[in-house]
Amino acid sequence: MSCNTDIRTELTKAAQAHGATASASFDPREIELRSEVRDMCAADRCGRYGKNWMCPPGVASLDYWNRELERYDAGILLQVTVWLEDPFDYETMLAGEKRLKSVFRKLKKDFPPNGGELLFLQAGSCDVCETCTFPDLPCRFPELASPSLEAIGIVVTDLCRSAGLPYYYGDGSLTYSGAILVRQPVDKKVQK
Ligand code: SF4
Repeated sequence: MSCNTDIRTELTKAAQAHGATASASFDPREIELRSEVRDMCAADRCGRYGKNWMCPPGVASLDYWNRELERYDAGILLQVTVWLEDPFDYETMLAGEKRLKSVFRKLKKDFPPNGGELLFLQAGSCDVCETCTFPDLPCRFPELASPSLEAIGIVVTDLCRSAGLPYYYGDGSLTYSGAILVRQPVDKKVQK
């Protein structure tokens, strides 16, 4: 069993223990980043565009993220699905997003990024600080901050398809997705 498989298994087990409802592996090199996704961010429906280092335009260019994805050997898609009482059940919607963010917070604590060997891509904008320093000062906690899948141009439906998990679990469901990319250390690659 490779080092990568070990860490993936451990991350998956920990994610489930912390509240993820589904997880699956994918190949980060198969993911196509699309500028249209970031264009949707620019429409600012969530009100965070241009207000957070982990959202466009502060979160680096698509070229940067394309190069970045090439550096990782494996990915794990994590999901939290909640079931709404009705289409206006905002309480449950917020609880779902909060739960996935909490899973990521706990995983980052248990599995620190360790020099870039892990890259966390969460759901929604970074909310580590009450008010983000963007654009006046550098990010306060770069080791805790994570962009969302959409912020780097990932089409979440494509990612779910690539990982073999549904994007939509049926009537009344709402699913939040995030991912962790895993890079095997260079010395481990040489030993393969
Ligand atoms: S950690 Fe704080 S300063 Fe950095 S991106 Fe997140 S909210 Fe902004």
